[in-house]
Amino acid sequence: MGLEEKIPSGVLLTSVEKLVNWTRKSSLWPATFGLACCAIEMMASGAGRYDLARFGMEVFRASPRQADLMIVAGRVSQKMAPVLRQIYDQMPEPRWVLAMGVCSSSGGMFNNYAIVQGVDHIVPVDMYLPGCPPRPEMLMDAILKLHHKIQHEPLGPKRAAALAAAQANGTAP
Ligand code: SF4
Repeated sequence: MGLEEKIPSGVLLTSVEKLVNWTRKSSLWPATFGLACCAIEMMASGAGRYDLARFGMEVFRASPRQADLMIVAGRVSQKMAPVLRQIYDQMPEPRWVLAMGVCSSSGGMFNNYAIVQGVDHIVPVDMYLPGCPPRPEMLMDAILKLHHKIQHEPLGPKRAAALAAAQANGTAP
């Protein structure tokens, strides 16, 4: 009996998927990108007291080409929106976005013409984190939830299809 007949259908592919996702979630590289007061808490998360390095992500990259996580830490002004989109476009796939705080998630208390009412109008968001500002513990909790999401994501064309479906549903721009 051949190996294919002994192994239930999809077992091998599922194991590869789990392994690849485990490596991806274990070494997220955030882009150095802070917009407002929330960024102070993000910086505190990377310092010695909270020590994001424990989760494999101590390296905040200065170049979007080397980053796979965008933490949108602060309100997004209309003027900044195209810049943010450009940075996102420069990040290689697979990439993820975490909206940190009420301002980046929904505009928050800045309900006016100058502020984008949710960064998901500009880029697809994988994780929303409420709070004003969210404390480093909350950011780490959101990152761990993102890890869980990445661990269970489909790979390759399936991921592209999932993104396309999200865009078609209006849950992504
Ligand atoms: Fe500043 Fe609060 Fe908005 Fe964060 S959510 S950018 S702390 S006003």
